[in-house]
Amino acid sequence: MAAPQILEPVQDFLNQSQTLLIDGKWVAPANGETFVVENPATEAHIATVARGGPADVERAVTAARRALETGPWLRLNPNERGKMLWRLADLIEQHSEEFAQLESLDNGKPLTMARAADVALTIDHFRYYAGWATKIEGETIPINSPTGGMFLDYTLREPVGVVGQIIPWNFPLLMAAWKLGAALACGNTVVLKPAEQTPLTAIRLGQMICEAGFPDGVVNVVTGFGDAGAALAQHPGVDKVAFTGSTEVGHEIVRASAGNLKRVSLELGGKSPAIVFDDADLELAAAGVAGAIFFNHGQCCAAGSRLFAGPKIREELIERVRKIAADTRLGDGFDPSTDMGPLVSRDQYNRVTDYIRSGTEQGAAVIHGGDARPKSLEKGHFVKPTIFGSVTNEMRIVREEIFGPVVCVQDFEDLDEVIGRGNDTPYGLAASVWTRDINKAHRVAAGLKAGTVWINCHNVFDAAAPFGGYKKSGYGREMGRHALELYTQTKNVVVNLG
Ligand code: NAP
Ligand code: MG
Repeated sequence: MAAPQILEPVQDFLNQSQTLLIDGKWVAPANGETFVVENPATEAHIATVARGGPADVERAVTAARRALETGPWLRLNPNERGKMLWRLADLIEQHSEEFAQLESLDNGKPLTMARAADVALTIDHFRYYAGWATKIEGETIPINSPTGGMFLDYTLREPVGVVGQIIPWNFPLLMAAWKLGAALACGNTVVLKPAEQTPLTAIRLGQMICEAGFPDGVVNVVTGFGDAGAALAQHPGVDKVAFTGSTEVGHEIVRASAGNLKRVSLELGGKSPAIVFDDADLELAAAGVAGAIFFNHGQCCAAGSRLFAGPKIREELIERVRKIAADTRLGDGFDPSTDMGPLVSRDQYNRVTDYIRSGTEQGAAVIHGGDARPKSLEKGHFVKPTIFGSVTNEMRIVREEIFGPVVCVQDFEDLDEVIGRGNDTPYGLAASVWTRDINKAHRVAAGLKAGTVWINCHNVFDAAAPFGGYKKSGYGREMGRHALELYTQTKNVVVNLG
C-alpha cells in the first residue's frame, strides 16, 4: 500500500506562518517571534508558528475575562453551549483526515493510530460534553431553621471563571479536547497553551472553534514555550489552571498558583504496573501488556512500564512480548506498514536512550532492543521497543518515568507481595491486572493505589470514565461527570421564607 499524500488543506496550513488566537482574531505575538515545528520522523521543518510569551498571555487572559463577564457567552442558554460543542465535534469529524495527518506529521505517531485513537476519541469527547452542558444542576437541601420559620436552601453550579490549560505533546489534540470539553460545557473561558513540540492541531482546533460559533475570547490559543505556561500559572487573572505534563513542572505550577490561590488540577507522570498472574489468558495478556508499553511509543502517562510476571508463565510471557517487540515495524507515521513511529523530539530521544544506558550500567539485562538506533532508519528520533530483565527496584529504569517504549520485567510469587510491589512507587496513575480469577482481579484492584485499574485490558479510555492520579501522579479527575467538579464552583443560597 502506498503512503497517502499530504492533503491540500494540510499543505496549505503548513505553508502559512501560524499566529495566536486571541479574542477571536488570529494575531502576531507581541515580540514578533516564531519557532519552527519539526517532523520527528524526518527531522524536516514543516511549519512556522508564533512564539507567544507573557505579553500575549496577558492579552489572552484579558480577552477571556471580558468574554466571561460581559460577552454573549454569559447569556447563552445551556443548550446553545451544548450545540456549539456538538457543532465543533461535527467540524472535526468533517476534517478528521486533516487532523490525523497534522497529528502524525507533528508528533510522529502512525497515521492509522492518529485516526483511530486521537481524532476519533476527540470527536467523542466533544459530543459527550455537549450533552453535559444542559445537565449542570444544583440541589435543594433541607436545612434546620434557626428561627422556627421556613427556609429554602439550594445550590448553584457556576463556572470557575478564566481557566488556563497547559497541555503536553503525547496526544496533542486529544489532550486539548479533554481540557476544553468540560471547561466549555460548564461555561468557563479558556487560554490554552499547547506544547512547543506539537502546536499544530491545537491551532487547527482553534480555527474550528471560531467556525463553530464560540464567541470571541471564549477560547484563546497561545502557542509558545514554558515561559508562556509559567505566565499563565502565575497570572492573578486566571482562576484555575489545568495541567498535564511532567511532575517537575507540576510542582512549579502549584508554587506559581499560590499568588492568587487559583485552583489547580494536575495530571502528571506514572510508572504503572501491569500484573500478569499464572492463570491469565496468556495470548490476551501478552498482546495487552505489549500494547500497554509500546502504544504511542511508550509516550503515555498510563504506560505499563513495570511488568510483573507470575512464576509459571514468566518465560513464556517474556518470549511472547519479545516476539511482539521484534515484529514491530518502526518507520514514518505516513507509511501504512508502520507500527511505531519516532519519539517526539531529539530531547525525548536523548532522555529515553540515556535511561536505557543507565539500565545497562546498573546491571539490568536487555532482553530486546537497546539504545542503538534501528539500522534501517538514518534520520528521525527512533528508539527500538526495549525489554529489560534482571532489574531491581532501586534502578532508575524501574523507579523513574521514562516516557518511551521501555519495559522492566519483574517476577513475583503471590498476590499480597505483588500489590505491595506494584504500589512501591511515588506514582499512582494506572495499573492493569491479568487473570481469569475474578476474585483475585477485584482484590488486586482494591489494593492498588492508582486512579485507574484495568482488568484484562490496558489503555482503555472513554469520555465517560474518570481519569487521574493518586500520589505524585496528580489530583483531580478529567473526563466523565467528575471533570465537572474541576470546572464548576458551588454557590449555596439560603432563603428565609418567613
Ligand atoms: P513538560 O515540560 O511538563 O511540558 C508540559 C507542558 O508544560 C508544555 O506545554 C510545556 O511547555 C509547559 N511548561 C513547561 N515549563 C512550564 C512552566 N514552568 N510553567 C508552566 N508550564 C510549563 O514536559 P516535557 O518537558 O515536554 O516532557 C518531560 C517529561 O515529562 C517526559 O519525559 C515525561 O516523563 C513527562 N510528560 C508527561 C506527560 C503526561 O501525559 N503525564 C506528558 C508529557 C510529558 P513547553 O512545551 O514549551 O516546554
Ligand atoms: Mg519541558
